[in-house]
Order: sequence, then C-alpha cells, then structure tokens
Amino acid sequence: MNRTYFPLIVSIALLGAASFVIADDHGLPSVGPDAALAKLKEGNARFAESKVSDAKPIAAKREETAKAQHPFATIVACADSRTAPEIIFDGNIGDLFVVRTAGNLVDDHALGSIEYSVAHLGSRLIVVLGHQRCGAVIAALASDTAPGHVQSLVRDIQPSVRAEKGKPGDVLNNTIAENAREVAAKIRKEADLGAAKDVRVIPAVYNLDTGKVEWQKE
Ligand SMILES: [Zn+2]
Repeated sequence: MNRTYFPLIVSIALLGAASFVIADDHGLPSVGPDAALAKLKEGNARFAESKVSDAKPIAAKREETAKAQHPFATIVACADSRTAPEIIFDGNIGDLFVVRTAGNLVDDHALGSIEYSVAHLGSRLIVVLGHQRCGAVIAALASDTAPGHVQSLVRDIQPSVRAEKGKPGDVLNNTIAENAREVAAKIRKEADLGAAKDVRVIPAVYNLDTGKVEWQKE
C-alpha cells in the first residue's frame, strides 16, 4: 500500500470503522492470519527437513527493516535455548515479533508487548509455542512451590497441571499442550487487541526430537 494513503487509513480508523484497519503504523498492509500461518508452516517444514534457506539475505533485510519493522506474526515462546522461533521457522530478522518467558507464560509486560505488535506493527497471528520436555512444566508437575521468582512460573502453570491430572496419556506432554492452550485463551481474554478483529491466537507445541511444530486446536 502506498504511503500516500496512510492519512486516509488513520482517518478511517478514527471514524471507528474498525474492520478497515488493515495497516501498520507505516501504512503497510498486514499479512493476514491465514497467510502468516502458512508462512510459518512452510518455514518449519524447511527447518525440520534440514532444508533451511542458505545465504539468507541478512544484510538486505537489515537495511529494509532498519527504520521500521513489519513482522508477519507474533510468537510467545519458552525462553528455552532450543526453541528460538526465528530458527525453527527458518525466518530472518524482521519476520517475527517474539515474546519469550520460561513456560511461554504471559504477564502484563508480555500482554503489552503482544498488544503493541498488533496495534502498531500489523501482526495478525499470535502463536503460543510450548515445547516438549519444558523445564518450567516439569517443575510445576513436581511441586506447586519453587524458590524466588520461579514460584510465579510454577503458580501460573498449576491450572494446567490440575486440568490434566489423572487423564490418559503422558502427563508431561498433556500438561505442556494444555498450558499452551491456556495461555492462548488468556491472550484472547485479556489482551486488548483494539480494532483488530481478524487476529488469530493459536497454541502449538514444538517437538525437540523431530524439529516439527505440532499445531493445536485454536
Ligand atoms: Zn520450556
């Protein structure tokens, strides 16, 4: 979209025609949630098959994004060193707006970051990415208390522990998936996504063994 139209878009937004807000702060059109999801799936397939893009145009992308960013998706991931979204989705700088905490939990800071990515950067897809053998979930299954601020992580995973207790299957895997679903539900409920009505929030679990992202029901 030509920058000439930016004032027009702002005017429409101010008039309250919420569904017409389809651009970010720079007048660039948003990548819709379905197209964004398809891009993530393609990138993860390349990664899982060890066919990651060679010679990524990093310098060109750095130049392109130096003045303004326009990420096509927002990822809420665990801080775990093995789950870097830019790598497992075979992305580049500027592609993904990433929030990472142990246990892929969201607090006020995280919710504010997500809201910012939607309202100002044009992101229309939010993925909550849990992962296999998550240490935070393992800790929450072992005990409902933990030292220091780790307690806040264990506390916020307890609803998922309770929800999955006694169910058939692997309790750790079940709790990891449930935690991703609960965080996604919290984002839908508590994040102020303003005029953006077309945002999708999707839970997923990253498999450390296969490199594949397993998508959960929205
Ligand atoms: Zn983790």
